[in-house]
Amino acid sequence: MNAIPQIQLHPGTSWQDELKQLVSDSNELFELLELDRSYLPAAKQAEKLFPLRLTRSYLSRIKKGDINDPLLKQVLPLAEENEAQANYVDDPLQERAFNPLPGLVHKYHNRVLLITTSSCAINCRYCFRRNFAYSENRLGQSQWQAILDYLKDHDEVDEVIFSGGEPLLLTNEQIQQRLEQLAAIPQLHRVRFHSRLPIVLPSRIDQNFCATLNSTRLQCLVVVHCNHKQEIDAYVAAAFSALSRAGITCLNQAVLLRGVNDSAKSQIELNHSLFKNKVLPYYLHVLDKVRGGAHFDIELSDARIIYEKMRARLPGYLLPKLVKDEPGQTAKTPL
Ligand code: SF4
Repeated sequence: MNAIPQIQLHPGTSWQDELKQLVSDSNELFELLELDRSYLPAAKQAEKLFPLRLTRSYLSRIKKGDINDPLLKQVLPLAEENEAQANYVDDPLQERAFNPLPGLVHKYHNRVLLITTSSCAINCRYCFRRNFAYSENRLGQSQWQAILDYLKDHDEVDEVIFSGGEPLLLTNEQIQQRLEQLAAIPQLHRVRFHSRLPIVLPSRIDQNFCATLNSTRLQCLVVVHCNHKQEIDAYVAAAFSALSRAGITCLNQAVLLRGVNDSAKSQIELNHSLFKNKVLPYYLHVLDKVRGGAHFDIELSDARIIYEKMRARLPGYLLPKLVKDEPGQTAKTPL
């Protein structure tokens, strides 16, 4: 494998150091981005429900003074989050009904999802797990062993998804250890990492991480979550390049969000930009109806109009599948 270039915003600083410097205070966010302070009281109120959190790397891509910046909108707590909305609930995908063990969600026949960590490096205001019971799903040693036993008893499962929280907050050593234990279960073939860190903390994609994913018999994929072309700066491009040069398949899932990326133009630019960086479009999700996220939602009829325009302009391999996650279904529902 070729050497991987430095992806650090501040050379000499590790990704763990960057994590210690998250922005988690609205006052600081408003000051750094020179935002209109009339929005500050509402932000303070909304962050009581779901804390403000973002990396300084992500912050560096937000345009100062622009309250409508598409990246800022994904992280800025707003007054709307406190308004009760019918049909917007704590657990829109009813994951509790498919949660046989702490840290394990088994919804689809042949794949299971693991809640590998209980936090993220960014808090996306529209996140369908913003109200998730992470405290009931912590993966200590005994819970992890119970999951391994569950997998041994369920030979229909051939794929494990490391989700979260943020799975890449695990150290490379922890990932290596978990992969070794999973690789000892014969029917497992693939491990997917659903991660936003390549976007919000690109320095996390280091040489050891790539080597770890290549050290197992299991086929490892990284599914990133990128919603807007502006999220891809030179550091993110370097992270994608590192994954690509290590031979790791990288896919993207985005969420269609009002005021962020709800136009065919924005979606087309995003998918061109991803492909330029060797990332293949996978899913475009409509919003899961989570409490506090209603202001990001768009009508399904509008989503379909945007998607038809995308279909007319993008080659098939750059067109993500427009899907909705519906509780109780055996797979995502194409729209
Ligand atoms: S990174 Fe993913 S899991 Fe974490 S808050 Fe954002 S959408 Fe939710």
